[in-house]
Amino acid sequence: MADLRFSVSEIKDQGGLAFNGPVSIAEFEGEALFGEAKPKGPAALDVEFSVGGSHILMEGRVEATWTVPCNRCLGPVDVKAGEDLEETYPVGQDVIDLTESVRESLVLSIPSKALCREECAGLCAKCGANRNQGPCRCK
Ligand SMILES: [Zn+2]
Ligand SMILES: [Zn+2]
Repeated sequence: MADLRFSVSEIKDQGGLAFNGPVSIAEFEGEALFGEAKPKGPAALDVEFSVGGSHILMEGRVEATWTVPCNRCLGPVDVKAGEDLEETYPVGQDVIDLTESVRESLVLSIPSKALCREECAGLCAKCGANRNQGPCRCK
């Protein structure tokens, strides 16, 4: 599991730093932040720090695959989604902790609308039957 804390002196010494790797999403759970979305495996994090005059700029992207309910039939749909990250930190601090930024970006990236397929027939409004499995008896 990746540690999302980075040493500012290391970033400064190297004149910048790049990190990419898998990040366990389980680490961010426990706050029910992700609603009905269930992470499928770890997220892929790709960030780069660059040193400016009095600040350090962090730019990157986090991507993950989520299992979310289909908007129409509520069946599970796997959706890959990502969100860009960008933040500046003062050079005076000791450690840059990306946990909060990554968590926020993950929450933002979760698709709010997904269809298991474009022509999903959805559930019958009357009896609740899944019409992908055939017509129900309602007229
Ligand atoms: Zn569906
Ligand atoms: Zn029906």
